[in-house]
Amino acid sequence: MLDIQGLTVHYGGVQAVKGIGLQVRERELVCLIGCNGAGKTTTLKAIAGLQPFQATQALLDGQHDLSRMPAHARLKHGLALVPEGRGVFTRMSIEENLDLGAGIRTDKADIENDKEHWYTMFPRLKERRKQLAGTLSGGEQQMLAIARALMGRPRCLLLDEPSMGLAPIMVEKIFDVVRTIHQQGMTVLLVEQNAHIALQIADRAYVMDSGLIDIEGQAADLIHDPRIRQAYLGEQSTSV
Ligand code: ATP
Repeated sequence: MLDIQGLTVHYGGVQAVKGIGLQVRERELVCLIGCNGAGKTTTLKAIAGLQPFQATQALLDGQHDLSRMPAHARLKHGLALVPEGRGVFTRMSIEENLDLGAGIRTDKADIENDKEHWYTMFPRLKERRKQLAGTLSGGEQQMLAIARALMGRPRCLLLDEPSMGLAPIMVEKIFDVVRTIHQQGMTVLLVEQNAHIALQIADRAYVMDSGLIDIEGQAADLIHDPRIRQAYLGEQSTSV
């Protein structure tokens, strides 16, 4: 679904992403992990069209050139971003946020059906549907941000740090939802600092460091990789 080669992003004179390649196949859940400042969010923003970039190749579905596609056209082609910090409209109700997520869709009956579907997956949102989004807890806002993105009927979700600032119990709930959505057929590119939980739900992973992809592989293998365990999973080195 996504085929990115030689992706480079600059902030002024600083190169934050240094010519990386990554692929996401249909129905895969791929995670991009790494330390603070590694360039994960910048990579996701470039793919989402929120950050100018250069690339030798940036293809969606093997044919659409992301470097020439304006951000607003991404959803029409099936890409939806759930940004870091959630970006819900705090002075609007949950229901209004979800309606906005439906965007340019005009299929009113289907929109209502989709809303009910996502309310079933996120019962907390249903109970609070008339409440202002700004009154929700951080975890509930993250659920709303995901549900809002899903209202656009994307084929691929770009998820930026869904665990950020949440209590462990809420992180588990959010990741349960991401796993379920993926099992139902959604393609997911997940940026996450919490390598432990990301590797548990991902099919494949890329590890970023200082703007480069350091390591890549099957998530199930990387969980046991000593380099990952030491650098990202908090395991002490046994070497002397
Ligand atoms: P984190 O998990 O802390 O968000 P990250 O891996 O997502 O880290 P990025 O946010 O992509 O990292 O940042 C990569 C580099 O680009 C960092 O050195 C950061 O300081 C720099 N950077 C990010 N955004 C900007 C910006 N708007 N202007 C200038 N530099 C930026």
